[in-house]
Amino acid sequence: MTCRTRFAPSPSGDLHVGGARTALFCWALARRHEGSFLLRIEDTDQKRSSDAASLGFLRDLRWLGIGWDEGPEDEGFGGGDRGPYFQSQRLSVYQEHLQRLIDAGTAYPAFETGEELTAARNQARAEKRPYRYDRAALQLEPAEVQQRLDRGDDHVIRFRVPDDSEVIIQDEVLGEVRIASGEVDDFVIRKADGFPTYHFAVVVDDASMGVTHVVRGQEHLANTPRHVLLQQALGFDRPVYAHLPLIQNPDGSKMSKRDKDKALRKEIKDRGLTSSKSVDSESWAAWLADKTRQLPHECAERLAEELGVDLPEVSVDDFRRAGYLPEVLINYLALLGWSAGDDLEKFDGAFLCENFTLDRIGKSNARFDRQKLLAFNLDAIQAMAPEEFLARFHAHCEAEHPEFIEKTTPEQFALIAESNRERAKTLDDPARSCRFFVMDDQDITWPVTKGTRKALAKGEPSGFTRLQDLSGVLSGIDSFTASNVEAALQAWADEHAEGNFGAAGMPLRVAVTGGTTSPPLPDTLAILGKASVLRRIERCVASAPDFSS
Ligand code: GLU
Repeated sequence: MTCRTRFAPSPSGDLHVGGARTALFCWALARRHEGSFLLRIEDTDQKRSSDAASLGFLRDLRWLGIGWDEGPEDEGFGGGDRGPYFQSQRLSVYQEHLQRLIDAGTAYPAFETGEELTAARNQARAEKRPYRYDRAALQLEPAEVQQRLDRGDDHVIRFRVPDDSEVIIQDEVLGEVRIASGEVDDFVIRKADGFPTYHFAVVVDDASMGVTHVVRGQEHLANTPRHVLLQQALGFDRPVYAHLPLIQNPDGSKMSKRDKDKALRKEIKDRGLTSSKSVDSESWAAWLADKTRQLPHECAERLAEELGVDLPEVSVDDFRRAGYLPEVLINYLALLGWSAGDDLEKFDGAFLCENFTLDRIGKSNARFDRQKLLAFNLDAIQAMAPEEFLARFHAHCEAEHPEFIEKTTPEQFALIAESNRERAKTLDDPARSCRFFVMDDQDITWPVTKGTRKALAKGEPSGFTRLQDLSGVLSGIDSFTASNVEAALQAWADEHAEGNFGAAGMPLRVAVTGGTTSPPLPDTLAILGKASVLRRIERCVASAPDFSS
């Protein structure tokens, strides 16, 4: 079977989970049939397009290991002789096919302004009937049309939908889908700015690029009848269609790139906040008033930090920065609608490329279960050899937390990695929980919490008292290795605390980290080194008055 699939993102931001799954399935289907996987950038919406955004897609696909055979050239991927693969560079191709329709009388200019159309739409809504373009432009005398065109009046080109136009689609996932005649009105195929609409460009491109299989999200199903009608009018073959199930959040809402804004709005509402230092007051009001608005990426992150909210990951880049492994994400994305059979849940990209078929895609909505993804990630990390974890944690830090590399020696870095390997759920976990390693000694603080109070201020003798004693013990260790530290602390505990290591451990852990969690204490102290440990203990003891109230 010839198989040419395509992924056709509009560069409106990051590659989100739904898009990544589409790309994955298109790629796997092409690989399975030894066909070709194309990437095409749908940048004809001038308002939304940007070069940087399209480059983001390329980077995200590369990171996931989804290589494209034809498309924009990037690090060895792409190329091909059916380009250009950016729609904005294909205007002459669209014009040629548009002219064919005009010559055949199946496309015509229409001069209504945006306001007129909005008014007509509103009226239809008020009368509770579906809006359909009324073909007013077809009533104009040819001479008038010509005169207005010659004058350069703003106009769009509409497709004249055949009157008897029932469309029957055999969808590989959904089965037969019928759209009655009259459901589709004369839709716009070229906008007033001269750019083709999505519907027209997609049909022309799929045909001229030889696409045989269109795999895309179910939100596009409503567009498909238009595409089929255009294919018929242009004399193009109809590709195989497969519309993928929607991806939902665990609460049943549609997973969307607006989920981050939703999480922030909820927190603001719950707390009754009326302003923030991360967002200027004008944008704040406009953003809160309009649920479809999104804060710019960095602004949302600043606000999340200010409010202490964990933003849900929705784009591939979010998951990468949060320390998920690309092979795990691929595996998990494939499960959002596809099943390998035999209850098999864990597999890699190569398996998918060998086994992927459209008939194993389910119809029902897929739930995005973050806990499950996290569990997959943990399993994959635990299965790694220590050297591999070290290398991947290092690469993650290079990209996201360079201070971990700058402020540690290679030996210290390796110790941090090793002391976290068995409990890290993501590559980011160690960097988050072990920030104290790379902080300057004078920047550690001791917030008064139930846990820190218990470790430092409660009991007789209190942790503060014991720290002074322990400081002496630690300063007497010549070679400050984990095993020497452990032996010294155990000896101290045997003598002063009936062998209870925790009597030394808890106060020391809080003293050197500022909190109550860390990798095993002897490792932690050895990584920090003696001088730093002693300085931190001294400063911690000096903070005792904070705990006296
Ligand atoms: N540019 C469209 C999107 O980003 C592609 C839809 C299609 O695959 O036809 O959703």
